[in-house]
Amino acid sequence: LLGLKENEKNRQSASTHVDATDTGMPSRGDIDRARKALPAYQIKSQIIQTIRDHQVTVVIGETGSGKTTQLAQYLNEAGLCKDNRIIGCTQPRRVAAMSVAKRVALEMDVKLGQEVGYSIRFEDCTSSKTRVKFMTDGILLREALMDETLEKYGCIIIDEAHERSLNTDVILGLFKRLLARRRDIKLIITSATINATKFSSFFGGAPLFTIPGRTFPIEIVYSKHPVSDYVESSVMQAIRIHMSTGIDTGDILIFMTGQEDIEATADTLRQKLTEIYSKRLGVSRYEEIDDIEIFPIYSALPADIQNHIFKRLEQGKRKIVIATNIAETSLTIDGIKYVVDCGYSKLKLYNPKIGLDSLTITPISKANADQRSGRAGRTGPGMAYRMYTEEAAYDDMYNQTIPEIQRTNLSNTVLLLKSLGVDDILRFPFIDPPPLQTLLASLYELHFLGALDNWGNLTRMGSKMSKFPIRPSLSKALLISATNGCSEEMVTIVSMLSVPMVFYRPSERQKEADRARSRFFVPESDHLTLLNVYGQWRSNRYSAKWCSRHFLQYRSLQRAREIREQLIKIMQSQEIELVSSGTEWDIVRKCICSGFSYQAAKISGLGKYNHLQTGMEVQLHPTSALYGMGDLPPYVVYHELLMTTREYINCVTSVDPFWLMEFGGFLYEIKRIKDMEGNGGRGFMDTVSDDQDETENQPDELDLRVKN
Ligand code: ADP
Ligand code: MG
Repeated sequence: LLGLKENEKNRQSASTHVDATDTGMPSRGDIDRARKALPAYQIKSQIIQTIRDHQVTVVIGETGSGKTTQLAQYLNEAGLCKDNRIIGCTQPRRVAAMSVAKRVALEMDVKLGQEVGYSIRFEDCTSSKTRVKFMTDGILLREALMDETLEKYGCIIIDEAHERSLNTDVILGLFKRLLARRRDIKLIITSATINATKFSSFFGGAPLFTIPGRTFPIEIVYSKHPVSDYVESSVMQAIRIHMSTGIDTGDILIFMTGQEDIEATADTLRQKLTEIYSKRLGVSRYEEIDDIEIFPIYSALPADIQNHIFKRLEQGKRKIVIATNIAETSLTIDGIKYVVDCGYSKLKLYNPKIGLDSLTITPISKANADQRSGRAGRTGPGMAYRMYTEEAAYDDMYNQTIPEIQRTNLSNTVLLLKSLGVDDILRFPFIDPPPLQTLLASLYELHFLGALDNWGNLTRMGSKMSKFPIRPSLSKALLISATNGCSEEMVTIVSMLSVPMVFYRPSERQKEADRARSRFFVPESDHLTLLNVYGQWRSNRYSAKWCSRHFLQYRSLQRAREIREQLIKIMQSQEIELVSSGTEWDIVRKCICSGFSYQAAKISGLGKYNHLQTGMEVQLHPTSALYGMGDLPPYVVYHELLMTTREYINCVTSVDPFWLMEFGGFLYEIKRIKDMEGNGGRGFMDTVSDDQDETENQPDELDLRVKN
């Protein structure tokens, strides 16, 4: 089977398949032919007419029918935007926004960033010439903050609305009000076939326009037994497919949950393939295998690498794409015949009772499973292998994924809506309302951070916080740092917290990598450790070589540097000072505490803490610099809670309980355990007064607790 090469000379590709290869760009003719072959092209004039006739149109179509790449172009060609207004198209994912903009620029034969551009958080690739702008839904929301009626836009396409991302749902709610104020704006909502009627009825019976699809039958194969390790099972399945089918039959797409899984899958795949090929063909290294190419794709990958997945391989080579659910509907990779579905995805889950937001690996919904399988049947009949049993599919899976708005922390959203003048959040027109408890928890958190006053109105602090496209706790810390003389340090920390992990830990050199990481440790704080990394990188002239020597991800640091510049721009526009505290880092910790006093924990055992408010037991993450302290600090604040086999607090800083009092005074109170001399007793609890002397007490003699 491995000697199939000869037979693969006549590898066929779908007639519509056109894309950039490594060696050169497709010709104009190729591109035009491909565009005309798309299902959307067949109904182009009807679709434009419907949009002309209605303010809101819902467009439904199979994935790959041309909704994302074609619609905006049709509207542009038809001149639907008057008065020099432009066309905006939102995507729930950054990766999709960039990749699609790139594709459309190629199709329109313009330079990316000119007539066609994209805008994602911290990165704007548009110009005054831009007519068609792709962006994340989050960016459009931010723009609404600057200009409530979105004057710049003549048409807005809300793409992938069926995904029901939080920001998409909020935009749709805002449009309820906006449509009346801007009679001239067109709203187009595109959706996969699931649940599209919901959008139509939300907008008072807007027309539903269906692009006739073409799909081929897909055979679905379930796992016979429950699998214990979906990475391993998926790898074995992909190898079985590869070994038992001709390469010319088609490529393989594996769905995984996120970056770690994807990398593990790619590594295992390379390793197993090398073993097999070495037995049969005497291959000694993976690089010598020449009939397979593996393409991981997840959002942290830089755009240029992501775009490689579209490249057409030379004959006799098979593509194995390993992707998150981005490949479910937003990106279409042609030539896929086999899908391997691990059955899980990473979902944000929020528990308002204990105020915990976490990314959790959860079974996908039936709708997701069908979308995933569907990717195998675009250019011919396909096969979908599900790494779960048929019973599990019926018993464990919801029909639909729960919309993000119902399972996420809403502090950001509530702050944004408040800034947009939506006073009564509880009566905002949500397509599906979030749980009341979540809304109340968000209002409470914003109040705690000082963004809302006792009456729920936006404070000056809150208004300033809303200018930053970051979590309220981070913007709070940043603002406090400016008045405490360490915003230079804090903006670095915030930037470092906004990028994927900077420490690199290759599986074959873990010990070495851990040693390298520990050299950056600032024992009181993981935040300061990040600051230290950035500072040293800067002293080494932002060198890439230096990064690889110290097991640091150069790309993440690069990105942090870009984000830092963006944040500084916002600070300048808000007249927020950039000041450095020099080597005085305690003040930095105190400012971190100001944003995160809500997420505080108190030591309870070896590496164990109790969440102050809820009492929940959490574990200090094994990578924390705090383990270098000898005795762990009694009080900490943390950046995030990770739910894996245990609840871990990740990115942690030691804090003084008096700081927690200072920033969370209405939540916490300090009791002091006094040793009563001559009384022989263990002492009693006494509330600390405002008396200055009290601060001389050692923190471990104090007991900070939540007020009743
Ligand atoms: P939909 O939005 O309806 O799912 P798209 O407009 O995304 O469909 O895709 C239409 C076609 O364009 C598909 O055949 C897809 O493979 C192709 N395409 C999209 N992006 C790229 C790209 N970056 N490179 C090559 N082909 C692409
Ligand atoms: Mg699309």
